[in-house]
Formats: sequence, C-alpha cells, structure tokens
Amino acid sequence: MSPIPQIALTDGHRIPQLGYGVFKIPPEQTERAVTQALELGYRHIDTAAVYGNEAGVGRAIAASGLAREELFVTTKLWNDRHDGDDPDTAVAQSLERLGLDRVDLYLVHWPTPAADNYVHAWEKLIGIRDRGLATSIGVSNFLPGHLQRLLDETAVVPAVDQIELHPAHQQPEVTAFCAAHGIRIEAWGPLGQGKYDLLELPEVTGPAAELGRTPAQVVLRWHLQHGHIVFPKSVHPERLRENLDLFGFELSDAQVAAIDVLDRPGGAGRVGPDPTVFA
Ligand code: NAD
Repeated sequence: MSPIPQIALTDGHRIPQLGYGVFKIPPEQTERAVTQALELGYRHIDTAAVYGNEAGVGRAIAASGLAREELFVTTKLWNDRHDGDDPDTAVAQSLERLGLDRVDLYLVHWPTPAADNYVHAWEKLIGIRDRGLATSIGVSNFLPGHLQRLLDETAVVPAVDQIELHPAHQQPEVTAFCAAHGIRIEAWGPLGQGKYDLLELPEVTGPAAELGRTPAQVVLRWHLQHGHIVFPKSVHPERLRENLDLFGFELSDAQVAAIDVLDRPGGAGRVGPDPTVFA
C-alpha cells in the first residue's frame, strides 16, 4: 500500500492526511479498535476529552511498541473547560489519560459563542503549545467570524480548523477563509456519519463501479483530492482496511466536479450541531 501523504502545516509541522477517528467508540472497546488500526498501518489518531476514550487510545499506543515520532495524536478541549486556567488542567488530564507528555495537535473543540470565551481558550492553547505540551494547536467547528476574532485578537493562526465537511455540507465560506489564511481543513464526518444516502448516490456509485472501488473509497478520495485531512471511523477490520487503501487510484476532474455539486447550501446538508448555537 502506498504511504500516507504528509500535509505541511503553516507552523512548520506536518500531519498525515489520513487517520483514524474514535468518536463514539465505547471506552471498553477503544484499546482493541486502536490496536487494530495501528496494526493495519494507521498512524494518526483523532480523539477528544469528551469522547471518554482517551485512556483506551493511550493503552493501545503504549502496547504498540511504535516510536512516539511515528504517531500523530490529536485531542480536544471540551466546551466547559474554556475559562480561567481550566484549559491547563484539562490538557494535563488528557495527557495523563493518553500516557503521553505531549500531543501532536490540541484543538478548541467548539467556539460556544454564547459564552464568549473562545478567544481566552485560544490564548491558553498558545501557552500550552509554548510549554511543549502540544506541538501544534488549532480549532474545531469555527466559522469565519470566530476565526477572524482569533486573528484580530491574538498573534497565532490556528494550524487547522476541524469542521463537519462531506459532499452535502461543504462549507465553502469556511474553506475559502481557511485557504486565504493558511489554515488546513480537517473534515469530520467525512462519510456524512452514515446519516444520509451518500454512498448510494449515482455521483458516488458510478465512479466506484468504473474504478472497481467502494463508494466509501470514492468519497474519501474526493476529500483527499480537495486537500482535506480525514480520519473516518469504523470498528470493522474490512472497512478500516478499505478506508486506508486510497492511494492507488484517482478520481478524474469530472468525477470530482460531479460530487462537488452535491453541496446543499445554507446548512441544509448539516448532520451535526450548528456551531453558531452549540454549547
Ligand atoms: P464518519 O463520516 O467517519 O462516519 C462514520 C460511520 O461511517 C461509521 O459509523 C460507519 O457506519 C460508516 N463507515 C465507515 N467506514 C465505512 C466504509 N468503508 N463503508 C461504509 N460505511 C463506512 O463520521 P465520524 O465518525 O463522526 O467522523 C470521523 C471522525 O471525526 C470522528 O471519529 C472524530 O474523530 C471526528 N469528529 C469530530 C467532531 C468535532 O466536532 N470536531 C465531530 C464528529 C466527529
């Protein structure tokens, strides 16, 4: 299998473009799931404090015998930990559960704009990075207005914005803002979380049949060709293998363009929470 490309972040560090997300994997199954993913060749793991499974990720990493520098681990600061010095406590707790002395990427999970404390949370992440507890820092679910405030009020541009992004919800305003400022896009829910008929649409099944690939591989390949960083979630070995095997084929420009038009503007294709109100 071809190696996973590394994407350059604007802070000078690099991130594997493809990883493994562990949202909704129950804590007691996480060690086994991550062990399986690492055995298959995944090296980038995306977790979060709120997933409740960082300890399972940590046990799998410890048991893997892999060198720390071979792995890329992301975790996230939850919404109720933005204030005061709580981000410092939260990152220490995450590192303890993960059994690591630093994460590769630490994110503010949601902007929670009603609380108006995401700029403070971001300033705390800058300190966390400066103390070496996170190599890179970024945000998640931030819209252009939220990002603009970080740029105006702090000196540090987030390395990534991890947003809900799949063919029915492409968020062109966010991706354009990020492209203009060197912020890399991480696409969460890359397969639409299985919440709509994405894998049955002819724009997806057509190329799958032509290329001898699965519909999920076509959608994930569409993400990669747009430069998105993705970490699809599954616990089934055959799907984990399939989701890793994306580098031996390519969609044509026409096949990419046909999927591009599946976007439903105005948030109509969103399957997760609305960042303007989610707290
Ligand atoms: P996803 O789009 O990856 O969908 C996962 C579902 O797709 C699985 O439950 C499975 O049913 C299906 N699937 C996976 N591989 C398949 C295949 N090869 N064929 C057919 N079906 C397949 O959604 P997700 O898990 O929500 O997103 C991926 C990761 O993004 C998460 O695990 C998590 O790490 C991250 N995430 C972040 C946020 C955030 O707010 N930052 C929110 C949700 C998820």
